[in-house]
Amino acid sequence: MNRIIKKYSTFLEKSSSTFGAATKKNGVKCKRGCNECCTVGFFDITLLDAIHLRSALKKVPAEVRKRVIARANEQLDILEKKKAFSRKDPLLKTLPSIDAISRRSAKMSCPALENGICMVYEMRPHICRIFGPTIRGPRRSVQLEGCGYFKKDIPEADYPIFDHYTEEKKLQKAMFVKAGRKRIREVDTIIPAALTLDLKKWL
Ligand code: SF4
Repeated sequence: MNRIIKKYSTFLEKSSSTFGAATKKNGVKCKRGCNECCTVGFFDITLLDAIHLRSALKKVPAEVRKRVIARANEQLDILEKKKAFSRKDPLLKTLPSIDAISRRSAKMSCPALENGICMVYEMRPHICRIFGPTIRGPRRSVQLEGCGYFKKDIPEADYPIFDHYTEEKKLQKAMFVKAGRKRIREVDTIIPAALTLDLKKWL
């Protein structure tokens, strides 16, 4: 499993670097200090992202890690009280369940955000690295809907998002196969769960 996590780390770095080059080329850098996408509730992340994040968390200084985990646990307590999430069943299996958690957590910020800064920046999930400007494919089709703050888009030719998804899927498959499954489970989770729970047992 460690080998897969390491490969995923390399994949994330590569994706960030291609995306960075595409934003530079198209002049679509995020506004300095903007962290709105980290403050409007929880979105879904893959189990591979979650397991990678938890595993890389040990690189964060102990004091910071303690604060981040404490915030994540407080948020999970609130969500459990609202019956919006369960630590006993931390997987999101359907689009309605993803929509529901996103609605119920709409006023929450990511537990990794501190004074406007991402405390897990080097290990942040894939979507955190590529969200912002809309990515468009042939005939201006939307391949990834952006946050709406950008007047310009990124053409898919500069950031081939589906090639990245294919590569990501291969690593996800390797992770599930390693865990004894025959195919990928289409399940996601949220960042507070990734930071606090050992999700390997849910593979
Ligand atoms: S992990 Fe970092 S970039 Fe992603 S939502 Fe949290 S604070 Fe924002």
